[in-house]
Amino acid sequence: MTDRPDDTSVRVALRIRPQSAKERIDMCQVCTSVTPGEPQVFLGKDKGFTYDFVFNMQSSQFEIYDNVARDLIDGTFEGYNATILAYGQTGSGKTYTMGTGFDISQLPEEVGIIPRAVEHLFKGIEERRQKAVETSKVPPEFKVNAQFMELYNEEIIDLLDTTRDPNEKGKRSHIKIHEDAHGGIYTVGVTTRQVVSLQDTIQCLKTGSLSRSTASTNMNAQSSRSHAIFTLHIKQQRVVSEEVGEGKENEGEEIMNEFETLTAKFHFVDLAGSERLKRTGATGERAKEGISINCGLLALGNVISALGDVMKKGSHVPYRDSKLTRLLQDSLGGNSQTLMIACISPSDRDFVETLNTMKYANRARNIKNKVVVNQDKTSRQIAELRAQVMQLQEELLDYKQGKRMVDPDGVESFNDMFHENTMLQTENDNLRQRIKAMQVTIDSLNTKNTELLAERTANNITNVEGGASSDEVSKLISGYIREIEELRQKLMESQTMADQMQRSV
Ligand code: ADP
Ligand code: MG
Repeated sequence: MTDRPDDTSVRVALRIRPQSAKERIDMCQVCTSVTPGEPQVFLGKDKGFTYDFVFNMQSSQFEIYDNVARDLIDGTFEGYNATILAYGQTGSGKTYTMGTGFDISQLPEEVGIIPRAVEHLFKGIEERRQKAVETSKVPPEFKVNAQFMELYNEEIIDLLDTTRDPNEKGKRSHIKIHEDAHGGIYTVGVTTRQVVSLQDTIQCLKTGSLSRSTASTNMNAQSSRSHAIFTLHIKQQRVVSEEVGEGKENEGEEIMNEFETLTAKFHFVDLAGSERLKRTGATGERAKEGISINCGLLALGNVISALGDVMKKGSHVPYRDSKLTRLLQDSLGGNSQTLMIACISPSDRDFVETLNTMKYANRARNIKNKVVVNQDKTSRQIAELRAQVMQLQEELLDYKQGKRMVDPDGVESFNDMFHENTMLQTENDNLRQRIKAMQVTIDSLNTKNTELLAERTANNITNVEGGASSDEVSKLISGYIREIEELRQKLMESQTMADQMQRSV
């Protein structure tokens, strides 16, 4: 799995489309050149730019997807938001690259990023479920919701709203853009369609694309004068196993299963043409659109420069200057892995626009995002609560053992009695041992006493028989008696002490 640092810059890929038949007929020259093996491109002779990726004219749709988008889809399975923005003048290949437009005659290899990403997503879901089944685990549950919006003249149009009257384009929508406590942007009032398969999602995209505002200008017959934002919300509920309570009492650890909810938001943005209004030759109503479209892109440019320019660090970021920048607020400098694909034409007649696009894209590389996993609060809370329970259990044990106490004023303290108790217990043990020793002494004294008594009796007998001096004998006897008395006294003392100790124990 790829390493995902908390702090990631907006990455920029430059894509040069091939020359069109018309450009070749018109004898346009190719004015771009890519340094082999380097993500570097020259415009004309001396204008060189370096990006994170550069895709030259012959690059395939698969190559683009595989190199820049695949990882972002994989990231959504781990709860990371992602955004892909296609930027460039009309006719530079934004819609072709993103895959937002639907051409019936499109070949499978010409399919753009969105259908490939959706296919990868549903494959990934199936694989994860399958793997869980094979390993007899609880399969993860996925819920994928799609939204498709268009920004046209600073108006949000809900492309999946089937009840919408296409003739009332100018009418204000009820869609609101909000910001949550963590700085995440969400919309209210946009149709959300749950999708369960690739076909399902493609159908969704087709329906939406058909109702997009397209109007003909002399730059590109199918050109769209608006920004299209296709969003997938991916919610995953999976069981995570956690080892708990590395047992003090219960040896070995217990496996706890709990649900974890990961969410991710993936924006696919096909921006409006970045060309100057003047060059499209638009007039009247079309001109008004042009101004407005550039307003969104202008605000985007200002946001990019406020975020990216070192000199402007810490200054106000004008997200609220347009609906586009407000909607994309968390993609620019917020919680999202963001990729900008700058699309350019290789032809010399587009030199000025191409140079503008290259400069614009180059600035976007300076934006630093703060990427974090969208893990739901409940599972985090469960983990916190579990730690708390363990702590309380330990505390309770302390109370039970008398280690802790609460005094009448309600003040909690460690109990002195506990320490005293421990000391007394040790003393007790020592005394018990002494008693044992004394018992042994008493036993031996008893034996000696008996011996002496026996001796005395024997002496009496010898006195009677042998008739030795009665004086000597009586002295001896009195000596023995004294000794007996002394021993008795000692014995009594020991017994009393033993009794006392027994009682104190
Ligand atoms: P935009 O959305 O930027 O206005 P389009 O995606 O509509 O541009 O592209 C303009 C035309 O160029 C379309 O006919 C498209 O099929 C063609 N085109 C764009 N990029 C490529 C490419 N990389 N390879 C082949 N054809 C392309
Ligand atoms: Mg387009």
